[in-house]
Amino acid sequence: MSELIKGNLLAKKIKEELKIKTIELKKQGITPKLAVILVGNDPASQIYVNHKEKDAKEIGFLTENQHLDETITQEELLSFVQKYNEDSSVHGILVQLPMPSHINSDEILLAIDPKKDVDGFHPMNMGRLLLGNPQMIPSTPHGIMKMFEEYDIELEGKNAVIIGRSNIVGKPMSVLLTAKNATVTLAHSKTKDLAKLASTADILIVAIGVAQMVDETYIKPGAVVIDVGMNRNAAGKLVGDVSFEKVEPIASFITPVPGGVGPMTRAMLMEQTYLAAKNSIKG
Ligand code: NDP
Repeated sequence: MSELIKGNLLAKKIKEELKIKTIELKKQGITPKLAVILVGNDPASQIYVNHKEKDAKEIGFLTENQHLDETITQEELLSFVQKYNEDSSVHGILVQLPMPSHINSDEILLAIDPKKDVDGFHPMNMGRLLLGNPQMIPSTPHGIMKMFEEYDIELEGKNAVIIGRSNIVGKPMSVLLTAKNATVTLAHSKTKDLAKLASTADILIVAIGVAQMVDETYIKPGAVVIDVGMNRNAAGKLVGDVSFEKVEPIASFITPVPGGVGPMTRAMLMEQTYLAAKNSIKG
């Protein structure tokens, strides 16, 4: 039996705290504002954007949603980013990924003012994170670090295995864990004997996008298991990359899906928007 890491409850607490801090910031004449750019009609992206807008409004932020046709050109899209860069009432700019294939998303992310890059995907923010001086941290790994803190999960000296090396989850996660003195292995689709490697982990973070792939053969008894995956199974139910039923009896801590990492990702995005607004006072 493992202890459930309740990301939804922690996220709620963080958002309540942000609500109060936002009231204080408003007294100083600043209302945090998040601009969201969505291109095309991908249903999942639309749901994510709606959730982010709802969170922002609940906390007391202003939002601006730019829903653009998928035929938009690179130049037109860049001009929207530029507009928000120059608008001092906008503190956070979020470009919902993935972009349509004719758009060069790297160039779009590079165009965002790093101070307004609340997703933390700009190369400047990634570089700062790598160098140990982060300004904006990608929300998913950031949220996972908050969960470790909340549940007093010791990282120093622990073996951490991360499965999945994406720029938005696995790579920044490896940097954050290394900074906390964990010994990190970053695994991926070409890793040999993955289950054997994973079962050496005190901390196992799974971000692959394959429904319920990780079962009990990947788990060292007593490991902390963080499931980032969000997949639909054959019945249309939201499931993680970890088989919860098989892993939960042997782990020490585990995140559920839904209600684990997902809500924390959203909460961290809100926290970064708040911080971007607060930092804008300093200029
Ligand atoms: P990507 O597709 O960008 O990356 C997937 C990674 O997993 C790659 O590094 C890939 O390896 C690796 N991988 C794929 N299949 C296997 C396999 N069979 N064995 C080992 N490694 C494998 O995904 P993301 O990082 O964007 O997302 C991962 C999952 O997390 C998805 O389900 C996504 O929906 C979810 N997600 C959830 C979030 C949340 O807030 N809860 C936020 C972001 C993502 P290689 O590099 O070799 O191709």
